Amino acid sequence: MMERPGLWEKGPRRAQKQTRAHALHHQRKITSRPAARPLWQLPATGRPNGRRRIPPAVTARPKNWVVEPCNPNAARHCPVERVAEGAGRGFRSWTPQNSDSAIPIRRTVVLLVLHLLCAAYNPPVSPFTSYVIGRSTVSPVPQTLRPAVCFIAATLDTSLQARSHTTPSSHVLGRAGASAMLNSGARRIWVCTRCVRRVTKPARQQRRCESTAAGAAAAEQRRAPSPLVDSSASGRHDDTVLRDLFDAPSTRTFAGFSLKKSQGLFKNRYLTSPDGFLLFAQRNLEKATKIVHRVLGASTTQEYQAIVRDLDRLSDLLCRVLDLSDFVRMTHPDSRFQQAAAGAWSMVYQYMNQLNTMTGLNDQLGEALSRPEVTSAWSEEEKTVAELLKLDFMKSAVNLPKKARDRFVDLSSRISDVGSAFIQNMEPEKKQVTLPSHRFYGLYPGLAATLKVRSQISIATTGSEAAAALQSVYDEETRKDIYMAQRKASRETITNLETMLKLRSELAGLAGFESHGHMALKDRMMAKSPASVMQFLLALRNHNAPMIQQELLELTDKKRERLAMPEAELQPWDRDFYMEKFRAEMRSRVRHEDQLTAFFSVGTVMQGLSRLFDRLYGVRFVPRETLPGETWHQDVKRLDVVSDDGEQLAVLYCDLFYRPQKSPNPAHFTVRCSREILAGEVEEATEDMVSGMPVFDSAEQAANDGMETSSRNGQLKQLPTIALVCDFPKNDNAREPAFLSYYSVETLFHEMGHAIHSILARTSFQNVSGTRCATDFAELPSTLMEHFAADPTVLSLFARHWKTDRPLPFDLVRERIKVSKRFEGIDTEHQILLAMIDQAYHAPDVASPDFDSTRVFHDIHRRYAHGPRDPPETCWQGFFGHLHSYGSTYYSYLFDRVLAERVWRVVFGAGHGGAAISRDNGERLKENLLKWGGGRDPWRCLSDTLRDDRLAPGDEESMALVGSWGIKDDKLRT
Ligand SMILES: [Zn+2]
Repeated sequence: MMERPGLWEKGPRRAQKQTRAHALHHQRKITSRPAARPLWQLPATGRPNGRRRIPPAVTARPKNWVVEPCNPNAARHCPVERVAEGAGRGFRSWTPQNSDSAIPIRRTVVLLVLHLLCAAYNPPVSPFTSYVIGRSTVSPVPQTLRPAVCFIAATLDTSLQARSHTTPSSHVLGRAGASAMLNSGARRIWVCTRCVRRVTKPARQQRRCESTAAGAAAAEQRRAPSPLVDSSASGRHDDTVLRDLFDAPSTRTFAGFSLKKSQGLFKNRYLTSPDGFLLFAQRNLEKATKIVHRVLGASTTQEYQAIVRDLDRLSDLLCRVLDLSDFVRMTHPDSRFQQAAAGAWSMVYQYMNQLNTMTGLNDQLGEALSRPEVTSAWSEEEKTVAELLKLDFMKSAVNLPKKARDRFVDLSSRISDVGSAFIQNMEPEKKQVTLPSHRFYGLYPGLAATLKVRSQISIATTGSEAAAALQSVYDEETRKDIYMAQRKASRETITNLETMLKLRSELAGLAGFESHGHMALKDRMMAKSPASVMQFLLALRNHNAPMIQQELLELTDKKRERLAMPEAELQPWDRDFYMEKFRAEMRSRVRHEDQLTAFFSVGTVMQGLSRLFDRLYGVRFVPRETLPGETWHQDVKRLDVVSDDGEQLAVLYCDLFYRPQKSPNPAHFTVRCSREILAGEVEEATEDMVSGMPVFDSAEQAANDGMETSSRNGQLKQLPTIALVCDFPKNDNAREPAFLSYYSVETLFHEMGHAIHSILARTSFQNVSGTRCATDFAELPSTLMEHFAADPTVLSLFARHWKTDRPLPFDLVRERIKVSKRFEGIDTEHQILLAMIDQAYHAPDVASPDFDSTRVFHDIHRRYAHGPRDPPETCWQGFFGHLHSYGSTYYSYLFDRVLAERVWRVVFGAGHGGAAISRDNGERLKENLLKWGGGRDPWRCLSDTLRDDRLAPGDEESMALVGSWGIKDDKLRT
């Protein structure tokens, strides 16, 4: 899950987050939305393994102590092993492996309990399996004790349910980068930059808020929030409950997580137990097959008119299984669920493989599109979906002759393999820099102490220690040594990268495109061609030039002044060092961040988001009790999203807190998309109900597997079902709520930006619902939300001191943002250069035999960089892991930042005069942009939203115009 960090590849977000300088943000992202995955679009396999973070609060097991089950295959299911990894609490008194001492009674009890837990939670482990723990062997549990064991297990620390180490390989990375048989280009890659950049947080962030106040009466002291938003009594009640739900979970634990009979995960009636996944997948495939036959047999005008609806439903049936099982296998703490979900996932995956070999669906769609009497009957949304489907077919190579198609498949699979190898085996030529310790003078003392061995300090080339050294070590030669080591990827890494690029180029040629860039940019992107992207990047570079020149001047002056050498020039290895000097000065003037977190308890922030959405769009969150088995962990809270006229719009499951073995990436998942359920489906469901497996209360319920639907004006719709997953630290002090750093507040706002897009874009076709829009458009709503998180009016809606109820002094936030944006020009240029490299590596030149990625890398820096350039012997591109997942779309991050900035200024008046909470402004955004999802040309959405006709053509000029706007936020730079 982790790409190797390259120091200067800060990735999109580090641009603004210099205080998180140690963040190795290159770990893989998590999908922030499930990519719209029509039937021919194969999720890919394989994902590099990454280190899982061990919570700092838990002591790791000493190395010579052993905890091992007798059955090696059982190891990964065994909670004992998880405890050993620091996953559990309170079980740390192991005996060293070679101890001959008698087993203490306490340990015997612990061992027994642990074994009971193993037996209760892990059917793959036979109850007759013996465990060797240290030198002791624990006897098997008799079957008759199983019910008692279950009871004990349920009442013990539920954290032991933490999922096993090895999650079945997720397609998150795969989807972004790997194998899709038919469409390395047609995949809707989904890379939420927020998720990418946030992957490894600095230790500071993991620290619990260490307020010394006892806060004995915390819950009582928490005053009922003033009714800023809700006039109705029920609204006020929901608002209060919302905060308590996340801040005082113990007093507000709903009875949803119990041992009662499960009502189905997400209320999906098939999923009352792990076994249900198989039936769920089978039923959906039966229905899918019927549709395939119907489409292939279409011959009348009426039947052709129904083709888009049919194909969209076919896609939905497969996505229902794939999206849900993908989520479960990544997030569910129970390994039985993970495995069952993985089984269902691969079953449907294989089915899609078969569909891929069929040309009939494409032919039938082509026939429908060629008949005016058919297309004239379609709605705008239907036409959009038809065009998308056609494009996907085209890129799936389904229309190629057999031989070419086989080659296409072969290439896709090789790209997947080489891509994975590139990410997994990414390494520097020199793994360590070892120098006499006196050369590290200035290094943070704590860090220096841990790294020093005798009179030497060894520092890993890639990693947070090296990043810290570049910021703090005084000796320029030392910094240079570290920097040079960091910027040189191994020969093998470069070879893997170049092989991947060349294969991509060949694949694109086979599909009839000039280059991979041309192919990828034709797929649901606002920038339709590489030329457009370049126009945008060049315009943005121009806009940014004065800012970066000024910043470089300041850094150079600082160096000259510090060294008393008026002629000194700024070198690449000086940049981080002098930037940190400026920031440190600023920080010393600012009060400590801990002060800020006290204003952001998780419940307060959730309450704030609800209030904000209510102001802007008339929708709010209503806490809802869950049924037994509806969620996957007791920390998961269900919120219903309700409009001000009482209509339920979506279901939101919030899994916000840290759990051992849980992915550290914040993510937004659409588990089920919005879509209209047609009358025919309800009839079909009536027939299904005859089998009585599973049991449904009504045909309407059966048509959505028991998950939530809405019925309005005779229209039955699947409700968007969304899961928000974060890993915010819980507060160890039970009397205090969990607090968020300001950075986490931004993160939550960002992810909620995706969620509100899914909530409001309730289209009739799942292919264009919610965030299933142009890839370089999808980060706009989420990035926009970060502006709201920095607006004083918005913060005044909710940010109050958890104990004193004092409103947040906005200066604290202003200072915080100022520090993080201190060198925005340098950060922006860095991103521009990365985006240019990404473009150049997917251009037609790659096919040429003398393509040399290192030369291209330096060439781009020589032509476009303002700052000091890397020495020619470096080859940093080998650490640019995003090349794998983005593949010529890396510019999207910058593009959406510019758009978000523009929308913030034009629609929300940069927040002045309360414009950030004005319903009129919210409606303007919703009506023109958010509610369309992917069902309308994004350029049209944008030109309507901004009331700027220059955007309507969506051509190179429009792209250049966007670039000229820049991402500088004047208000915050004052
Ligand atoms: Zn995002």
